[in-house]
Amino acid sequence: MKQINCDKCEKDFDIEVKIEPVINDVKRVFFICPHCDSKYIIYYLDAQIEKQQEYIRIIQNKISESEIDSKKHKKLCKEFKKLKREIGLNMDKLKLKYEIRKS
Ligand SMILES: [Zn+2]
Repeated sequence: MKQINCDKCEKDFDIEVKIEPVINDVKRVFFICPHCDSKYIIYYLDAQIEKQQEYIRIIQNKISESEIDSKKHKKLCKEFKKLKREIGLNMDKLKLKYEIRKS
């Protein structure tokens, strides 16, 4: 587990990733500082992103197969980058929509 330093209380702690439902199929992935209870949101996901993440794992596995030829490898890498960008964009959209507003 990765250790980070809390922005608020400046203490170190181990990240324990948690997931909570937001609305419908939207979920919030986050962790909490055990010292001061500050909540850090990593990202949001929905069913579409989960599907894309699953697909990106499949592509990653295919890329790591040593017997694929360079042409196929190039194609898969291109697909991987495109999908990664799409996931990023979808996560940004959800973040904008569901981010907890600071009062
Ligand atoms: Zn803290």
